[in-house]
Amino acid sequence: MHTERDLARLHAETLLIHGGDAHNATPAVVPPIWQSSTYRAPDSPEAFADLAASINPTQFYSRHGNPTNAQIQEILAHLEGTESAMLTSSGMGAISAAVLASVKSGDHVVTQTSLYAAAMTLMRTVLPQFGVDVTFVDQTDTAAIEQAIRPNTTLIYVESPVNPLMTLTDLRAVGKFGRERRITTMCDNTFASPLNQTPHEFGIDVVLHSATKYLGGHSDLTAGVVCGSKAFVDNAWKMMIVLGSSLAPLESWLLLRGLRTLSLRVERTNQNAMKLAEFLEPHPKISRVNYPALRSHPQHDLAMSQMKGFSGMMSFEVNGVDESAKFDNAQTLIRNMKLAANAVSLGSVETLIVHPASMWSYHYTPEQRAAMGIGAGLIRLSVGIEYIDDLICDFEQALNCV
Ligand code: PLP
Repeated sequence: MHTERDLARLHAETLLIHGGDAHNATPAVVPPIWQSSTYRAPDSPEAFADLAASINPTQFYSRHGNPTNAQIQEILAHLEGTESAMLTSSGMGAISAAVLASVKSGDHVVTQTSLYAAAMTLMRTVLPQFGVDVTFVDQTDTAAIEQAIRPNTTLIYVESPVNPLMTLTDLRAVGKFGRERRITTMCDNTFASPLNQTPHEFGIDVVLHSATKYLGGHSDLTAGVVCGSKAFVDNAWKMMIVLGSSLAPLESWLLLRGLRTLSLRVERTNQNAMKLAEFLEPHPKISRVNYPALRSHPQHDLAMSQMKGFSGMMSFEVNGVDESAKFDNAQTLIRNMKLAANAVSLGSVETLIVHPASMWSYHYTPEQRAAMGIGAGLIRLSVGIEYIDDLICDFEQALNCV
């Protein structure tokens, strides 16, 4: 068992294996699945009343928490360098609990024009329904983020890197704006994972993840996490139990199992993605690769200054004589991939590939798509941990079909 002081000294790789051990009160090396919705009351009525009023209890009622959640929360808080963490049933569960706990009617939020789609719906549609104003700015324009701040701004919400072009936000600058003006700052860190980027070190107050992605890592669960100060996370927990987005015991157990190998998976993914990006960039059938580790990425210097690794997330443009040809060529490439699965989501062991222009064809006109940076030939890729030569061969043969 490790004390808090010990944990602070451990490397991420070790924390992922041993962090939160103290929450497993059983002799089982692998903690059991606490598949119970409710727990027997302690003997004294006062102790039961205390339990009922406590925040994130581990053995009271499953919507409020369970021992596996507590174990994982300790690991994730240490990985992100925050005081506390809270698990939820999905990434959107984490985002909505954290955001709704931060704003009230009359408040103003500054966010980016590019965000994960459901987070965008929260900002564009849901918050205004509750009297919260939202300003959207180009995340690459740091001065514009500062200029958008108003006296009633209570939240700056960012995501970095972000779809579709792996665009970055200057986390140091956002952290500074928030600290100087006492505004809560929040970053969705899903694409990077805590091993590649830790926004809290740059002054970002709250770090969010869809744990469905790298943290879980096997495409077999949905989960989310809110990392921040104890005061913030406690408040977000109160919102979360009202929204009902608690993580179920089996999903929590699967998430802990997935986390054990996070460091190996992220290391391999980073290496694979770099080699694949270097293969794709000069390819004659590809006009551009968007990957922050490449010198050609317009924010490469920023990436080097705030990321420790660059993850498996990238996008690239397939060539074509016109928009229609690009669309067809992207489709042909995807149809001919033998290893990469044409599926949404990301951060898993297997390589996943999507063609945003066809996926969003009912949602956006070609003009709207283009304005969002989603070209007809754009392909989004989440690189997995397969053997890299096999992956490159797969892309080579699929590109030969284009
Ligand atoms: N944030 C990002 C960057 C995502 O890509 C996603 C899902 O794809 C989410 C949040 C939402 O996560 P979940 O699907 O677990 O609710």
